[in-house]
Amino acid sequence: MNNILLVEDSRVVSNAIRRRLEGVLDCAIHTTQTLAETKAFLEANDDPICLGLLDLTLPDALDGEVVEFVTEQGIPSVVVTGTFTPEIRKRVMGMNVIDYVVKDSPSSLTYLVSLVRRIVRNRQTKVLVVDDSKTSRKYLASLLHTYQFRVMTADSGHEALEIVAATPEIRLVVTDYNMPGMDGFELIRELRKTHDKERMAIIGLSGQAENELSVKFIKIGANDFLSKPFMEEEFFCRVSQNMDNLDQLEELRDAATKDFLTRLYNRRYFFDTAEPMFKSARHTGRPLSVAMFDVDHFKSVNDTYGHDAGDEVLKALADILREEVRDEDMPARFGGEEFCVLVDAMEPKALQEYFDGIRKRIEATPIDTGEHTLNITASVGVCPTLRDSLDDMLAAADAMLYEAKEGGRNQVVLAD
Ligand code: GH3
Ligand code: MG
Ligand code: MG
Repeated sequence: MNNILLVEDSRVVSNAIRRRLEGVLDCAIHTTQTLAETKAFLEANDDPICLGLLDLTLPDALDGEVVEFVTEQGIPSVVVTGTFTPEIRKRVMGMNVIDYVVKDSPSSLTYLVSLVRRIVRNRQTKVLVVDDSKTSRKYLASLLHTYQFRVMTADSGHEALEIVAATPEIRLVVTDYNMPGMDGFELIRELRKTHDKERMAIIGLSGQAENELSVKFIKIGANDFLSKPFMEEEFFCRVSQNMDNLDQLEELRDAATKDFLTRLYNRRYFFDTAEPMFKSARHTGRPLSVAMFDVDHFKSVNDTYGHDAGDEVLKALADILREEVRDEDMPARFGGEEFCVLVDAMEPKALQEYFDGIRKRIEATPIDTGEHTLNITASVGVCPTLRDSLDDMLAAADAMLYEAKEGGRNQVVLAD
């Protein structure tokens, strides 16, 4: 859970911000109205605060003292101010805050919400800085660190390629142009062979003398560019905008391939991925298996605790599958309370143990539905070996699932 500290003396503004944030983010918002209250809160509070949203003027701190106090505690912060002048802007940006928002219109609240969401997401996002200059690398890394990213650095294009190959989670690369060995353009060309623009953003940086190179960055495959020196504020806006674009594209992809409730792959995506794997397995003889999972007596969960509790059970089961299934296997929601797992290259004996392990984990995991804590079990039917078609394999797994139900549920049955 993300803990956010909101310091704002106006209850109206404070409530408006809180409502908007709670509507879009899974976060706990702690509100205070004065500097004294903020000090007392932070002293008594043990949970780490991931972000401070701080009013510049408070009744007992007219001059931004709360910003100084909170940032000194190491809490990343955004300043929210009613008045805006170039002097205030300069002072605020000098206080090591991430950004500032002027409370002058409804759109500023929208900006604040997208800003907070961005920062919270950055905490899970890996980025890579590539620059041969140590000073420049450190500076860029410290800026990105302030925005809460998980920052990695490379001092050459070659090192960057190695890091990206070993760290598939990297979603943003910020690279200098002028580097010995491999320059920024070459690096981008190499990166684009394996990572497209819609999944990994690249921002190119060029020195002042290389201004004409900027547009070439885009043509080569960068998402954006900036000339050095840049305003920190602009850097932050460009980075945020590019990350927001990636997120939106990912949401669109997810909507097409994933099940809305559980966020597991949907049936369509399962077939799109499993069919080529099936064909290749038929060709090479590499083992491929499928398992069908079905929650036992799920209807009675719905009937006893309500449909919402039933949904929580499905989400919990999906979480267990996500955690327990190996990276090379694919869990999917087939519909209703039925899940399917495609398993790559595993022998029948190991399959029995694998699925028994998952079955036991399901049985042993209490599920919190908000009002109640429930325990469920699931039955599993497995088709361990290749058949004439993927459909035949699924039908065989289904038949074994039926046997598992008939045999008393909460068990794994493998076909011969
Ligand atoms: P068995 O042990 O034989 O599998 O019995 P069961 O009650 O689990 O199976 P049955 O097929 O009789 O009931 C499945 C129920 O799942 C019926 C349906 O309303 C419910 N269901 C299907 N999709 C969803 C969903 O997305 N959310 C919730 N809450 N319920 C769902
Ligand atoms: Mg105020
Ligand atoms: Mg069922």
